[in-house]
Amino acid sequence: MKMNHHFSELPGSYLFSEVAKRVAAHRAARPEQGIISLGIGDVTRPLCRPVVAALAEACFEQGRAETFHGYGEEQGDLFLRQAIAGHYAGLGVRVEPEDLFISDGAKSDLAGLSELFSPGCTVLLQDPVYPAYRDASLLAGRRVEYLDAVRENGFLPLPEPGCRADLVYLCSPGNPTGAVYSREQLAAWVAWANAQGAVLVFDAAYEAFIADPALPHSIYSVPGSETCAIEVCSFSKTAGFTGTRCGYTAVPRTLQREGLNLHDMWLRRQTTKTNGVSYPVQRGAAAVFTAEGQAACRENIALYRRNAQCLAACLEELGIWFCGGENSPYLWLECPDGMDSWQFFDHLLQGAGVVGTPGSGFGKNGEGYFRLTAFGAEADTAEAVRRILRLYGR
Ligand code: PLP
Repeated sequence: MKMNHHFSELPGSYLFSEVAKRVAAHRAARPEQGIISLGIGDVTRPLCRPVVAALAEACFEQGRAETFHGYGEEQGDLFLRQAIAGHYAGLGVRVEPEDLFISDGAKSDLAGLSELFSPGCTVLLQDPVYPAYRDASLLAGRRVEYLDAVRENGFLPLPEPGCRADLVYLCSPGNPTGAVYSREQLAAWVAWANAQGAVLVFDAAYEAFIADPALPHSIYSVPGSETCAIEVCSFSKTAGFTGTRCGYTAVPRTLQREGLNLHDMWLRRQTTKTNGVSYPVQRGAAAVFTAEGQAACRENIALYRRNAQCLAACLEELGIWFCGGENSPYLWLECPDGMDSWQFFDHLLQGAGVVGTPGSGFGKNGEGYFRLTAFGAEADTAEAVRRILRLYGR
């Protein structure tokens, strides 16, 4: 056998391909309706001015011999790692530049980190789950097990007695449910991982959306996490980098398993597989942490938050159960009238020209649920709300 037959273990079509297919068919049938997408989690606000200025200046630097930069530092340029460490300090968390790695976004590191583990390892995921953890683990031939994230546990499962795994992906604020772990809940995961010798991969891609000051933005706000947790974060949703590509991963130098240092392993892996992120993109990302950059990003997040409030008010008026949207750009709702996820998808698309994401695409526990995002343009979100209310006779 020469081929990677694990490809055949993946779901037949990627969730968003099926969404795109149904939307294209509907657009062809009803070209006059106009479709509003609150489906894929892409942002709509452009890069802010300080980021664009820094990107542009860095491009010009690259065009002059005196300011030209060739290959950057192995873990990413120090100016950006220092700025990120400063951001962590602002959250009351100590992460040193030496622990940080700059990436082209969270997804590649979330997938690549499983290479630190042997092929026989067990990966523990939540169901419903951000599909990339599942698909990357399956492709690498890992054993994948699931913890139920259901309404009864607030979509925030905790380690159960007898629970065993080598690698656990935690996403908080969660995609797709918008649920956010409290510090006490994260402390339970940290205690479990240290006792078991497991490693937590904490995906904080949506940390900037946390509004409640009591909720943790980083796993490193929990004592003991520096010996069991890797944190992955991204500029995609916080600063509009979905198309510009930049993220960062903290692998503490204190994280060891079976006599191996995971920081050193990740450095070796990264220097083998990538020469890093372009200098202009890193300069643009560093501008996110300037006072002007932070103010602009906060303004964009406030706009997305208003969209979430507008969607939440609509669901409340219709008496549809939902969670999320307060500390997350995602609202996770129960499909009304006993519809399953794809039935509700078709109902909204055909009746209102509004596109969301069927919960069943995120796992079996997502069946009967639906995800809406607050990342649309403000006017589009308001129009989507009007259409949904009209669909239900309001
Ligand atoms: N993690 C989560 C939970 C996401 O929802 C996404 C993108 O939607 C990512 C990571 C990927 O982020 P990036 O654009 O940095 O690759």
